[in-house]
Amino acid sequence: MKIAVAKETSPTEQRAAITPDAVKKFVALGADVCVETGVGLASGIVDRAYSDAGATVAPFAQAALSGADIVLCVDAPSDEIVAHIPEGAVLVGMMDPLSPGRDFSAMNARSLHVYAMELLPRISRAQAMDVLSSQSNLAGYRAVIEAVATTGKTVPMMMTAAGTIPPAKVLVLGAGVAGLQAIATAKRLGAVVSAFDVRPAVKEQVESLGAKFLEVKASENLETTGGYAKEMDDDYKKRQEEALAAVLPAQDIVITTALIPGRPAPELITESMLQTMKPGSVIVDLATASGGNVKLSKKDQIVTEYGVKLIGYSDLPSRASTDATPLYARNLFNFVSTLMMEKDSKALAIKSDDELIKGTLLLKGGQSVHPALGVK
Ligand code: NAD
Repeated sequence: MKIAVAKETSPTEQRAAITPDAVKKFVALGADVCVETGVGLASGIVDRAYSDAGATVAPFAQAALSGADIVLCVDAPSDEIVAHIPEGAVLVGMMDPLSPGRDFSAMNARSLHVYAMELLPRISRAQAMDVLSSQSNLAGYRAVIEAVATTGKTVPMMMTAAGTIPPAKVLVLGAGVAGLQAIATAKRLGAVVSAFDVRPAVKEQVESLGAKFLEVKASENLETTGGYAKEMDDDYKKRQEEALAAVLPAQDIVITTALIPGRPAPELITESMLQTMKPGSVIVDLATASGGNVKLSKKDQIVTEYGVKLIGYSDLPSRASTDATPLYARNLFNFVSTLMMEKDSKALAIKSDDELIKGTLLLKGGQSVHPALGVK
């Protein structure tokens, strides 16, 4: 069985889908691994490390992909790369399946079996394969680092002979995976941190990190049984808006991470709220790829509106690729080795009845099969 990895095709993607450590483990299970030259360079991994681990290094993508049974990727490959994947092969990676207008015709034309890791059911058995968690955690960290690098304000309190510098105030909206790491990172840097989430269950986690939880009481439970947020009613939205409007003028840095899966991002910071913020303050909007939590923020840009710098990077984990790559590669190894391989088996052994396989299977041999794509 051949597992292949080509270089990522997006010019901003610095991560790779495989590390030398994962190569060793796949080889130990009886697979052949082939990577395209330079596949790990942007994450600080040279070809030699892959070949020392047991992989073949191919000079270009077509050679790497030739004869592959399983192809691993970070982002969905370009149509040009897809054209080189053998017909009927398995492709595993992040496919961005919920983006409006997403076109899978090139993959379907190759009759690929495509597994979208974003759709992995979030059950405890799947934690070691959960790319959204491993990558969002780094995104939360990196969001704070980007904000700190952009603001002119220092973060910790400093007492100097020339006077005392007060600590920066940081507000985090949405205390899920990315939000909790943003809180922890801002606290470590010495900021005074507060946070808000519609799920009251996260209050304890926020407080255990040393941040203040801003509470807006809801008339119903805004958490689904799966642990995600529900859409809010207008009355709740209004009270949330008032609560935010009261605290925003004092903040130096705001990190927004609010998400309801499968829905456009909720707009939490309006234009009129921006006008009340301190000139020179910074907002990092993590949700720009799904519409943004902040009015006027722009995907992959830094813009200044009413004196507030709005950072809209959608590639934050990639900006921490040295650590994002090993975590992502381990997630993929755990998924593929547990659900698609048997030790010393020379052929694919996909556990088709497993809920993790069913939950992630997006395209099956040329057909869209996942309910997320509107398939009944
Ligand atoms: P998550 O589901 O773990 O957390 C989202 C949180 O938002 C949940 O706790 C939810 O209760 C909360 N929420 C929902 N609606 C809210 C509202 N109206 N007000 C306050 N809180 C609300 O998701 P995550 O993995 O932490 O990801 C967060 C966001 O970051 C997502 O939009 C994700 O796509 C994005 N993300 C961006 C990057 C990047 O590079 N920019 C990288 C990774 C993730």
